[in-house]
Amino acid sequence: MHNDHNTAWSSCLSKLRDDVGEQGFETWFKPIRPIRLENKILTIQVPSQFFYEYLEEHYVQILRDVIDDRLGKDFQLEYSVVVDTGDGSNQPYTINLPNNPVSGKPRVASKFDSAKKINSLELFGYDIKLNPSYSFDNFIEGDCNRLARSAGYAVAQRPGVTSFNPLMLYGGVGLGKTHLVQAIGNEILNGSEKKAVHYVSSEKFANQFFDAIKNNNIQEFSNFYLKVDVLIIDDVQFFEGKEKTQEIFFHIFNHLHQSGSQIIMTSDRPPKDLDGLMERLVSRFKWGLTADLQQPDYETRMAIINRKMQSDGINIPDNVVEYLAYSVDTNVRELEGVIISLIANASLVKKEIDLELAKQTLKSIVHDIDSEVGIDYIQKTVSEFFKVSIDQLKDKTRKKEIVMARQLAMYFSKEYTNLSLKSIGYHFGGRDHSTVIHAVQTVNDLYDTDNNFKKSVDELRKKLKLKAI
Ligand code: ADP
Ligand code: MG
Repeated sequence: MHNDHNTAWSSCLSKLRDDVGEQGFETWFKPIRPIRLENKILTIQVPSQFFYEYLEEHYVQILRDVIDDRLGKDFQLEYSVVVDTGDGSNQPYTINLPNNPVSGKPRVASKFDSAKKINSLELFGYDIKLNPSYSFDNFIEGDCNRLARSAGYAVAQRPGVTSFNPLMLYGGVGLGKTHLVQAIGNEILNGSEKKAVHYVSSEKFANQFFDAIKNNNIQEFSNFYLKVDVLIIDDVQFFEGKEKTQEIFFHIFNHLHQSGSQIIMTSDRPPKDLDGLMERLVSRFKWGLTADLQQPDYETRMAIINRKMQSDGINIPDNVVEYLAYSVDTNVRELEGVIISLIANASLVKKEIDLELAKQTLKSIVHDIDSEVGIDYIQKTVSEFFKVSIDQLKDKTRKKEIVMARQLAMYFSKEYTNLSLKSIGYHFGGRDHSTVIHAVQTVNDLYDTDNNFKKSVDELRKKLKLKAI
């Protein structure tokens, strides 16, 4: 089918772009060159050892899945790494992708199979789901997370004993929820008492439960969960609307709580806003302590950058740290993404990290090539933010969310571009200039009266501003 490496790789790329997101794609996959396809082995060339290691660490599973999907399960991937020997003769060498997990075999037969095999070994800390690199040590403290962190620490010292049971941590994406709850788990595992710590995302929990129903072994499923000393459930918002899963979780929750086991949960919003959750479950979430994680402030962002660079053994000038801390204020994950890309870029162009490189990197991550915020970019950003399509922004739909997104996009077009009201209207499906004026007014009014709306506007403005740097 794919007798040619270029076709094969571009087919993989089109899927990768969806799977890893724009930033990951630009940074890690664009620079890759396919070099041959022989005997069902696709060889790709990556620019440096660092690149190879990074791909291995972060994208190995995604790569495998893409190869399975696009080429076939019996295809293999090989990297060829270009090393700079300093004499201009970049002699590539080849690293074979290890067979595991990148073998053609199905990796996990069934999600519940793995739970079924759970034995005391896994229960006593060998659950690979707990990532040992998440610790309290490398979780930077700031005003944004002080309560959550110290409550977490207290729980880790005396699980099930403090009144922080359950401990419920909530906050937006990339603010450190998973890091913190895993740090608690690790801290407990490293403690002197042997405790069965189990970390699971609520999505995985729901899938395991689903498989258990299908395979008729709900008993086994419950027994497993009833035995843990510390249950960490990540992203409970995923339980929304899943009544059966909530029922079983309710049952497990009560049992564990009564028997003095510690329950730790995270959610992307406060319990009261978990609309699709049973009231009695939500009310139990509030029995212990609920603490939020907020966007890191400037100082915390500086500390996180410094820490990250230090742990990678990299020195960067203060003005670069300041610039990054100033520019990326959304969440820690995004900040980390920028740092990694910066390191990757430096290694790619073989330059020291300086302000200029930082600016370039940020630009190439945040948008395409030009640095002006144009109407297309505004439409794209707004449509992604509200999860509506660009077409919907331009068509006649009167659905409330779409109207709001459309009005906001018009508002920002007025604010950020030099286009006339008439031509802004033109870019929104040929509306006339009075529609644009109305949109701007509506946004201004809502901004002053509706707090949630204000938040969305502020967040969007930040996203758009990043591009303008
Ligand atoms: P969430 O689960 O809230 O989406 P994560 O826990 O996955 O967020 O955090 C995203 C990334 O940011 C992780 O790599 C994590 O290590 C890092 N991170 C978040 N908060 C901090 C912090 N306070 N100090 C250091 N690293 C952090
Ligand atoms: Mg998380």
